[in-house]
Amino acid sequence: MIAETSDYLVTGGAGFIGSHLCTRLVSMGKSVQVLDNLSTGRRENVRHLEGNPLFRFHLGSVMDSDAVDSLAARSGAVIHLAAAVGVENIIRKPVETIEINIGGTEKVLSAAASRGLPMFLASTSEVYGKSWEAPFREDGDIVLGATSRSRWSYACSKALDEFLALAYHKARGLPVIVGRLFNTVGPRQSGLYGMVLPRFINQAMTGKPITVFGNGTQTRCFSAVHEVVRCICDLMETPKALGRVVNIGSVQEITILELARRVKEITRSESPIVLTPYDEAYPGDFEDMQRRVPDVSVLRGLIGFSPGASIEDIIHSILDHGIPEGAD
Ligand code: UDP
Repeated sequence: MIAETSDYLVTGGAGFIGSHLCTRLVSMGKSVQVLDNLSTGRRENVRHLEGNPLFRFHLGSVMDSDAVDSLAARSGAVIHLAAAVGVENIIRKPVETIEINIGGTEKVLSAAASRGLPMFLASTSEVYGKSWEAPFREDGDIVLGATSRSRWSYACSKALDEFLALAYHKARGLPVIVGRLFNTVGPRQSGLYGMVLPRFINQAMTGKPITVFGNGTQTRCFSAVHEVVRCICDLMETPKALGRVVNIGSVQEITILELARRVKEITRSESPIVLTPYDEAYPGDFEDMQRRVPDVSVLRGLIGFSPGASIEDIIHSILDHGIPEGAD
């Protein structure tokens, strides 16, 4: 079905992070084929690349072994981003989360391994779970909650992806890098799946209450998507990164309440900041992470760079692209 060959196959390339990654790869002169089922991705996200001879979009799922195999056979490397994303999305669709994150990744790893293709597997800081050992080091313990709380199925499914990737590396020589992405934000990110920053900006810009879940003392470190995709591209060019698990994130920690205040201030919004109990915000028995900070020494040691854009600059860059989509 597909005639051309490309430097990269990017699964999930029409998603928020994927679309920025494709833009960077194409601007580096690399040819890219995207496989995306548009479940949370948008054709609109890659519209600016359509028509570029270096870019091709294929509508399809990583659950389709034939599509994955046929694209991998025509690619020089694979960046696997396709996954179920967003805490709210994951809680709403628990079966799909596990199926896509485990079944899809297995197919992509197997296709890359049978051809010895260099591969980047996007994992997540969720895998650290509710560990209290912040800043989180890649070799630190992971601490997950009860299986009755579906949030943890996401962490667990991505942890299994990591085990599988590292097993393919050790047992079959797959040249794979595992990147644990911390909260990544920027233009084109949707607030439809739970992500806090596009939601806050949408609420502030449309005069709705800014909804801080819990008491707002929980912290996150937000990194700019253009810096995250730079890290992914640089890691793919770093042979010493092969077989490694690498945190990718900013170390600038902020409480969610303070994030709401900064959004309100920068947008000069009249919206009130409202504390919303978790049981009103999420269905079922929800458990949040109190603190999430990466140790980025491995990343810096490998590529000499780690994300550092300020939250103010990030908020301005999002606003420059218009008002992000809010919650349903
Ligand atoms: N959050 C919030 N209001 C929202 C959406 C999220 O206060 O409208 C909180 C959420 O409970 C969490 C933090 O913001 O403590 C980050 O949430 P997000 O879903 O963006 O990322 P993650 O929980 O995966 O870090």
